Amino acid sequence: MTGDPHHLNIIRMRRLSTTTARAHIVVNENSYKIPKTYMEGPHVGICLSGTSQAHIDGALHNMPNWSRVISSAGFRLPSELHDDQGKGMLCGPVAGIVPSNTYPNNASIITGTNIDSHKVLFPSDTPQSDSVLAALQHSGCSILLSTPETNIRNLVSHQLSLVDTTIPKLSDPSDDLSPLTDAVHLLKDNPKKYDISYICLSDRFQHKYSELCEESAEFYGRLDLLLGELSKLNCTFAVTSDHGMNEKTNYNGQPRSINIQKILESIGVDFTVSFPIRDGEECHSLGSTALIKLQDFNDREKALKTLRDTPGLYTALGKEDFCRGLDLPQSLDADILVVGDQYSVFASEDGSFPAHSYPFRSHGSFEEQVVPFLMQSPSPLCTEYRTRLSKGKVRNYHLFDYLLNAEH
Ligand SMILES: [Zn+2]
Ligand SMILES: [Zn+2]
Repeated sequence: MTGDPHHLNIIRMRRLSTTTARAHIVVNENSYKIPKTYMEGPHVGICLSGTSQAHIDGALHNMPNWSRVISSAGFRLPSELHDDQGKGMLCGPVAGIVPSNTYPNNASIITGTNIDSHKVLFPSDTPQSDSVLAALQHSGCSILLSTPETNIRNLVSHQLSLVDTTIPKLSDPSDDLSPLTDAVHLLKDNPKKYDISYICLSDRFQHKYSELCEESAEFYGRLDLLLGELSKLNCTFAVTSDHGMNEKTNYNGQPRSINIQKILESIGVDFTVSFPIRDGEECHSLGSTALIKLQDFNDREKALKTLRDTPGLYTALGKEDFCRGLDLPQSLDADILVVGDQYSVFASEDGSFPAHSYPFRSHGSFEEQVVPFLMQSPSPLCTEYRTRLSKGKVRNYHLFDYLLNAEH
């Protein structure tokens, strides 16, 4: 029968119907293929909040799954990429949004857009662009969300309805893997039930533990086991982070805090200041970004000059510069954005900081912008997607683009 032209035709049509005719949706001008879970296995996006490349590097000896992806598909020159074709893995550093905080970055991940489009800067902001997850739900996909924090859940469930969510109660930061543990159990018990999952961890663990301690090696070792479970379940998964984390301390272990209020008061400038990191959690009381609204716009040059001369302050930008340079929205009611250096945070209004028993660790600056990215699939991945990653063109908010579009 193999020589029968009619038979060959049928085979070709079947191939067409499973490859080129795959349905897709367009969200915020980006196209996403709709996965066919009954054929391909579930697709899982994971945000390891607060995880920097240093966390992964420091625990890699305890992460056999992640190490395997790096050794077979890690960051390479485009000319070397042909070696990796067919393995369904890729891995390399990507850039997130500055301010390097949880909310703008998660809004970017779920909408696939930059901050000037979704306009989320503060924890209470609602995304102004459409959710990729919600659009997938409208086209018939079932969605699983798993995240430990109500604030993050409210954000990432934007436009979703009747979604299965797990919100584990956490008593200790080392429980912070439980959203992923719970999701892996659900996927194991119901392998065809969830087409797409989004799992966003909390960053309380990373606020507490440095990348070089034993607790961190143990934490990321457990994470790696869970990724191994996902690959056994035939899942396609993509992992990134919203932002990294750095120690923000003086030589004596106290927070290295800059009091913007005092600095501006000392030169006679009237202003209000806001801190986008604050969401009521103690670990988010101090971060490395602040926004200033001046009473009198004529004070701007004087304020910018004084702030730029302040040790520990990486830069102060006027509105036209932070909108153009960092893609922040024009609608933002602020005249100046200040960003600390790797070691500095901005003090609260009264200059106080929380009584932590551990070196103060936080985020918000450019130093926490670069985060890891890893993808693993049972199918080969497109060369175009490998090349984009190796050229440094990928952002953390391309998570769903990779997860849904990178497979052949
Ligand atoms: Zn975070
Ligand atoms: Zn944080």
